[in-house]
Amino acid sequence: MEHAHDLIIRNATVYDGTGAPGIRADIAIDADRITETGTVRGRAAIEIDAHGLAAAPGFIDVHSHDDFHVLTEPDVTHNVLQGITTVIVGNCGFGAAPAAAAQVQMRAIQEVGREFEPWEGYAGYLETVDANPPSLNVAALVGHHTVRRAAMGGVGKRPPTPDELASMRRMVAEGMEAGAVGMSTGLVYEPGRYSDTTEVVALAEEVAARNGIYVSHMRNEGDGLLDAVRETIGIGESAGCGVEISHHKAVGKGNWGKVARSLEMIEAAQARGADVTADQYPYTARSTMLFALVQNGTFGSGSGGAMGRSSPDEVLLCSVPGAPELEGRTLQSFVEEWDLPGEDAANRLLSERGNDVLVAAFGMDEGDVRMVMAHPSTMIGTDGLDRGSRPHPRAWGTYPRILGKYVRDEGILALEDAVWRMTGFPAKKFGLRDRGVIRAGAFADIVLFDPATVADRATFEDPRHGPTGMPHVIVNGQFVVRDGRHTHARAGTALRRDPA
Ligand SMILES: [Zn+2]
Repeated sequence: MEHAHDLIIRNATVYDGTGAPGIRADIAIDADRITETGTVRGRAAIEIDAHGLAAAPGFIDVHSHDDFHVLTEPDVTHNVLQGITTVIVGNCGFGAAPAAAAQVQMRAIQEVGREFEPWEGYAGYLETVDANPPSLNVAALVGHHTVRRAAMGGVGKRPPTPDELASMRRMVAEGMEAGAVGMSTGLVYEPGRYSDTTEVVALAEEVAARNGIYVSHMRNEGDGLLDAVRETIGIGESAGCGVEISHHKAVGKGNWGKVARSLEMIEAAQARGADVTADQYPYTARSTMLFALVQNGTFGSGSGGAMGRSSPDEVLLCSVPGAPELEGRTLQSFVEEWDLPGEDAANRLLSERGNDVLVAAFGMDEGDVRMVMAHPSTMIGTDGLDRGSRPHPRAWGTYPRILGKYVRDEGILALEDAVWRMTGFPAKKFGLRDRGVIRAGAFADIVLFDPATVADRATFEDPRHGPTGMPHVIVNGQFVVRDGRHTHARAGTALRRDPA
């Protein structure tokens, strides 16, 4: 009697997620696990002929902001069409719990659904995801802004009192005990920007005690980049936990090339035995709140502040709640219409339209993007904000853009190396057991793509499109994308940190 499998993928070129080169093999899947690789005998209820296609572990987006999105729009189409099978939410300090503080903190960057019972802590958030599964898996970071806002009763523009700090420590500990993979900060945003290094170290100690990592949108990505890298690495070393530098880059022309130094600082920390890595999205524009750019002096005179400088013609409106007709315009068009300097035009926009305006802002160097990408400390994340009609295309195109433009067309990375940075590397760093690898016993999160044709179709002008050349995406053994179409399967689950 031949064993009958649920699903067999035949004749794929398998990139197993360890960085090993592709080999021709079949993959058998039963229920939610890979049960066999190599030459698989027998039949299956479903067989896919993957001749000409690469099979890789599903991509792990280490830099997601879809904490609420996975619940309010559980198809999370922008993610699954580009091969993402796990998102790590809670980045840049924006975390999902406590629920009430999260709803206030998050509203600038994503829709905060009110159809769910407010959850208790991160245990409650992860249980809510399990009870309302989206199309992909969700792991969470504890967000510093959110716990700070909850402990201090709003945006405290001051250090916490000892009681408030103790309360924050308890919330971080709760998140870690519930299975969060670490804690994030966003030290340019409200209210994280009011915290000093000591406060962050104290909270990171709770993370270190439970084998999690410290993830940071650093205090400065402009003129003060190198000091910020020093602070970030120092926080990890003081607390005793690993560090992930978020969206590693240098913003503003005067800072281009500085990533060579920040990469050396990462290498030096690694040489001391510190676990320091970074992530990146493959574009020369960032995307964030217009309010935060103004607050950090992006359009003013002088140094340009913590988020670097961009000129008004480099700023595109992505999402303007209540005024979608303004989406796609540049800040420069308002400068001209109102005859105001850039900063004043931005302030008038915010006073007329509210603080929840999202923009894309150019200001990075393509050479820096390539240098960071080629460095072995870098893994991949989208930082996607799929809001409004003109979101930054990274929300839809990050992974196929790496595989098409940077692997095939420009040769910046070998394909097996790119796959490692999207799968096995993040699974190891973020403590996701049996994910990010194709081998018998691992969970069946798999993406199939054609290395010769895979490409992103999301542009700044017309962003909301999935890729070409990526026909199948499987989450926990179920197709979520088949023949390029979303199946609407809710195959995901909440993931909790591997305590080992
Ligand atoms: Zn960020």
